[in-house]
Amino acid sequence: RTSELSTALEQLADANQRLRDASRRDALTGLFNRRHFREVFEHQIHRANEHRQPLGVLMIDMDHFKGINDGHGHLAGDECLRWLGRCLHDALVDHGALVARFGGEEFAVVLPDMDAARLLDVAEQLRLKICSQPVRYAGNNIQLSASIGVFMLRPGAGIGIDDALVQADDALFAAKNRGRNCVHAADGLAPG
Ligand code: GH3
Ligand code: MG
Ligand code: MG
Repeated sequence: RTSELSTALEQLADANQRLRDASRRDALTGLFNRRHFREVFEHQIHRANEHRQPLGVLMIDMDHFKGINDGHGHLAGDECLRWLGRCLHDALVDHGALVARFGGEEFAVVLPDMDAARLLDVAEQLRLKICSQPVRYAGNNIQLSASIGVFMLRPGAGIGIDDALVQADDALFAAKNRGRNCVHAADGLAPG
């Protein structure tokens, strides 16, 4: 009786854990979803302020993604999103990055403890990686590119999560306006 009960309790705890993990992730890419991203980012802002360290934020949006869906079909578009998810994870995991699908074809990244030059370098390497090789799907080569907005939270600047995301998003918007497939730094981040 007691052992049956404890097995049932263990199974329930397992199921709970799986549910909790699933509720944090985006089903298509397996990356964290926006809700979990915000939770973790919030903690990271507190911790970075305590330790007087900067936090880099990247907003990444696929270029002309609607055209990929229209030209190759929605399933091909899905495969491109999965590919980009893996690409972001593989490129950034060693930097201790928080990587999330923010919505649609937009991804958000937080990079801890990097100076501005390093942050911009990581963003540029990432951009190059995304357009370096096409995605193969159903016998077709699909060329991707992405625009990246970069913002840096400096310790003690009193900037919260929403302001940080708006700044990164404005930089992304500027990257799109500059012609796409480029990295744009928010005002004050880098010279030029
Ligand atoms: P831009 O370069 O300005 O970013 O242009 P865009 O075409 O990438 O941007 P737009 O916002 O016009 O289109 C985004 C498209 O992304 C439209 C939407 O159908 C598609 N999309 C969003 N989520 C998914 C998804 O989960 N799967 C697929 N296949 N497409 C998606
Ligand atoms: Mg787009
Ligand atoms: Mg978009």
